[in-house]
Amino acid sequence: MFILNKNLVLQSEAVAPWLAPYAYGIVILGFIFFLFRIFENWYAANFDKPLFRNYLVFKKLSSAQLAILTTEFSFYNKLSEKQKKQFEHRVAKFVSEKKFVGRGELEITELMTVLIAAVGCMLSFGRKNYIYSLIEFILIYPEEFYSKVNNDYHKGEFNPRERALVLSWKDFEEGFKISNDNLNVGIHEFMHAMQLESTKNRDLDSIRFTKQFQNILKELTRQEVKNQLDKTEFFRAYAFTNQYEFMAVLAEYFFESPADFKRIFPNIYNYTKKLLNFNFAGY
Ligand SMILES: [Zn+2]
Repeated sequence: MFILNKNLVLQSEAVAPWLAPYAYGIVILGFIFFLFRIFENWYAANFDKPLFRNYLVFKKLSSAQLAILTTEFSFYNKLSEKQKKQFEHRVAKFVSEKKFVGRGELEITELMTVLIAAVGCMLSFGRKNYIYSLIEFILIYPEEFYSKVNNDYHKGEFNPRERALVLSWKDFEEGFKISNDNLNVGIHEFMHAMQLESTKNRDLDSIRFTKQFQNILKELTRQEVKNQLDKTEFFRAYAFTNQYEFMAVLAEYFFESPADFKRIFPNIYNYTKKLLNFNFAGY
């Protein structure tokens, strides 16, 4: 035992001088990375957007998955070539990381996984942190499902305790196929997950979310805005249930009626755009 230890010591002494430059290199690299992180956070705090949204873009979709995006998902077709590559990477990563589970005899298809991932990645496309860390499972029912949360039928639900996003496929499909009725259960539920994440995390996207959300709340206290809300009845009544429902409904309107939203409530629109860092496809 003793001899073995001695040998090890001798050996490491012999090797150490040779390794020294590498050790310095690693320390210096670590320090550069640390400085970069400080600069990245400073940049995000000052300019209200991430310095880099993507470091690496390497994952590719299969040709069948890509065909679903190009034929079914109009947002994808409005992106530049570079943005398309980023979007594909994110959708591929989302599909591989989340567990999709069919409920009530529903069989999961590639159309379902790709389109649900696409809606989630669209909402988070302006973010660096796009993957929804609070969601592990995507449960899909064929249609409206009975929820024990309030003993009622739901089209969608975000259940943080179960780490699950629950969707009725019928309503999810209608949500994005009818693109101008301001009803989009996919966007709605993903926004719940994003907002809850922003209250728990301190990453640069969560900090920006919280800051812009406060701006939106402040805007809602202005008498002029209150009058405009009453007069136009632009947002459906459900938005005023609580802060979470308000943000979820706001996100639906942002994607489905951007022009009207911007015209009637320009400040709230701009804060929502900043909150999502959404500068794509004409938004
Ligand atoms: Zn909701």
